[in-house]
Amino acid sequence: MLDIGILTFIIIFSFIAYKLNSLTASGAIAATLVGSTVYLGLGIDGFIILGTFFVSSSLISFLKNRQKEGIEETLEKGSRRDYVQVMANGGIAAICCLFFIFSKDIIWIIAYLTSLSSATGDTWSSEMGPLSKHQPISVKNFKKVQPGTSGAVSLLGTFSALAGVGLITVLGYLIFPITWKMAWIIFFYGIVGNGIDTFLGAFLQRTFRCPTCHMMTEKTYHCETKTKMVSGISFMNNDAVNFLSSFIAPVFSVLTYLYFH
Ligand SMILES: [Zn+2]
Repeated sequence: MLDIGILTFIIIFSFIAYKLNSLTASGAIAATLVGSTVYLGLGIDGFIILGTFFVSSSLISFLKNRQKEGIEETLEKGSRRDYVQVMANGGIAAICCLFFIFSKDIIWIIAYLTSLSSATGDTWSSEMGPLSKHQPISVKNFKKVQPGTSGAVSLLGTFSALAGVGLITVLGYLIFPITWKMAWIIFFYGIVGNGIDTFLGAFLQRTFRCPTCHMMTEKTYHCETKTKMVSGISFMNNDAVNFLSSFIAPVFSVLTYLYFH
């Protein structure tokens, strides 16, 4: 059960993240909701996994922030996460915990871990990839593009994704009563989730061009003018892409588990 001590801890945790500029005020409220739901469903074990995702991701952006000022120009939002970003990455994980409360079925733990392994890999690679010394390559046309472009891959970004997915999988294996087969499914679909994220980012995510400086950006405003959409689907921003991959990856991971079970 969610006692007052745990709730206080989650609120203080979110408040510190807000104070450290990892979360906006709305992001901190959303994080409190996600954290409480995860605790209700999977207890301290679930909370350790969520905390690992959140703390490691915040730490990476915190440590690397100064080196990638240029990328903030390209991305729609800065590294401070609002409630939409928190929900895009943690919403599905929280829903899995809700379902686990009622069914106590292991499939919700598999879905939970897959969703967060995918989100961790994606966040790590988005933070680390742009620091690569080499320009990333777009999966759309294999051309070199600006660092930080959605749908572009670099060696550093790819290894960061693998490390993020691997960390959550190993922790999940150590903490939860899952078999090594389940762990492989979680690892595999965590990586698939990152692949889906990259391909959606390349082919469907909206991109804009600034009419003033002609820069390609995900921002709707640049140089104090409204930017023009040049490709993608209008509602497909980075949050929608993250939400879709955090949803699709667990669905396939559970289907695969049920198929081989
Ligand atoms: Zn501009």
